[in-house]
Amino acid sequence: MNRDGVRKSLWQEEIKNIPASININGTYDVAIIGGGITGISTAYRLQRSGVECILIEAFNIGFGTTGGTTAHLNNFYDTTYAEAISKFGLSNSKLLARSAKEAMEIIEANINDNRIDCDLLERSAHLFALDDQQKKKLEEMMEGSEKVGHVMIPIEETSYPIPFTKAVEIPGQGQFHPIKYISGLSRSFLNSGGTIVENCRCNSHSEEDDLIVLKTSRGVIKAKSVVYATHIPPGISRLHFTNSPYRSYAMAFTLRNGRYPEEVGYDLTDPYHYYRVHEINGEKLLIAGGEDHKTGHADDTGECFSMLENYVREYFDVDLVKYSWSSQYYEPVDGLPYIGKLPGTKNIFTGTGFRGNGMMFGTLSSKVISDLILSGSSEYERLFDPSRVDPIAGLTEFVKENISVVSDFIKDKLFVEKIASLSEVSDGEGRVVKYDGESYAVYKESKGRVHLLKSTCPHAKCEVRWNGAELSWDCPCHGSRFGIDGKVLTAPSVKDLIKVNEKNI
Ligand SMILES: Cc1cc2nc3c(=O)[nH]c(=O)nc-3n(C[C@H](O)[C@H](O)[C@H](O)COP(=O)(O)OP(=O)(O)OC[C@H]3O[C@@H](n4cnc5c(N)ncnc54)[C@H](O)[C@@H]3O)c2cc1C
Repeated sequence: MNRDGVRKSLWQEEIKNIPASININGTYDVAIIGGGITGISTAYRLQRSGVECILIEAFNIGFGTTGGTTAHLNNFYDTTYAEAISKFGLSNSKLLARSAKEAMEIIEANINDNRIDCDLLERSAHLFALDDQQKKKLEEMMEGSEKVGHVMIPIEETSYPIPFTKAVEIPGQGQFHPIKYISGLSRSFLNSGGTIVENCRCNSHSEEDDLIVLKTSRGVIKAKSVVYATHIPPGISRLHFTNSPYRSYAMAFTLRNGRYPEEVGYDLTDPYHYYRVHEINGEKLLIAGGEDHKTGHADDTGECFSMLENYVREYFDVDLVKYSWSSQYYEPVDGLPYIGKLPGTKNIFTGTGFRGNGMMFGTLSSKVISDLILSGSSEYERLFDPSRVDPIAGLTEFVKENISVVSDFIKDKLFVEKIASLSEVSDGEGRVVKYDGESYAVYKESKGRVHLLKSTCPHAKCEVRWNGAELSWDCPCHGSRFGIDGKVLTAPSVKDLIKVNEKNI
């Protein structure tokens, strides 16, 4: 497995072994933890500025969401400019619009400077409202966009065979192959003298005098600054209460009639569907995504694929489903990402809460964090401050999300099914079962082998839930995920689920 789920994503073929180092050489200027777009972009940028960097990755480069993304490059975000203006004011929203432009420019410069062949294409986007409610939302979006100088052009036709009530074109968007991109950047990072260590998990950090000491699965690393590019930082901090984990589903189809849309596309349903085309080994594929839900909150994750497939089949002349996979993202409570200093630390930085825009925000993080490390300031540091508390922008959502987290704690105790014996778990099924006052995560392979784990997530003691689509145990509170063997797949947990000797129960 070289991604954090059992299903193969469209990009996975390209996850090849990066020529990683084996030795950890003690002390570095900056240690970057996490080998997705955020970590690689930041390591590359810092190393090129003359800073000695080490990047460590618990598995392999591209193991996390960057290996399960759909890699649209947008200069508009899931939080619309209209929403941003109402929550953060016009000048902050203009800065937000500039951040998207800047992220796009960084990606282009990285590709050009390093001659990375990663299928970069400029594309227009088509945004289409499917009913009157969505039409109203689109009109609000257009007003907000105009105020921040973001171009949306009303159109009468789209290249999508989906009936709409109103549609706009947004020129100057893009798409690329995310793994080819970060592989290229990784190589340039290594060529500039950087160090990458794969299969190296960071288990803890402590700030001691002017150095941060990291305990990793492959030894101790010391660094003057640390960047948690782990999509969500480990430990328990306010960021675990201001971000909620969500799953999103993606599928890649061939079409019988060959009518692949030129533009990237989005409807305005909640959650929205997103579309684009990518050619892999000479074969065009329509990628469609959607059916998002809070992690651990869908009873049957396999059904999310069926719903997405049925929806796409309704409009497109689908021939074959070539790929289907799901992945995780984080919703920030007030709609903007958290990029900057990890709350409560001196020299530890992070980037999280990217929603479905992590190609852009992960890239932007490389600039914000590098600027903070190299010069102590960034023009974006206030807007994206991880320690911000904005009572107007975030309070309602904060309360809502935290009621959900708190009720997850409570519900989990009730949710645990009270069954008397393991025989009630069918082959190929995973379930949390109550046995003799304790809760266990039980997975029965189709040949009958039973995997038994304690079902309590080591991160914040919530009860994990079964994800049948990716064969993983997912924590509904903060999004940690574990394989059937209990091994941690997704942060924030750095510990595995406890394995239980079957004879003990
Ligand atoms: C289905 C889907 C589609 C999406 N589509 C788009 C899109 O079209 N456009 C867009 O802009 N965004 C999109 N996003 C969002 C975007 O993909 C993510 O925000 C982005 O990939 C996050 O990158 P990252 O580097 O921050 O995290 P990741 O890619 O998750 O990388 C984090 C890495 O840290 C490692 N790690 C974690 N803990 C530790 C530890 N303790 N020690 C060492 N290593 C550790 C992990 O193994 C992982 O490899 C999508 C998200 C989803 C789920």
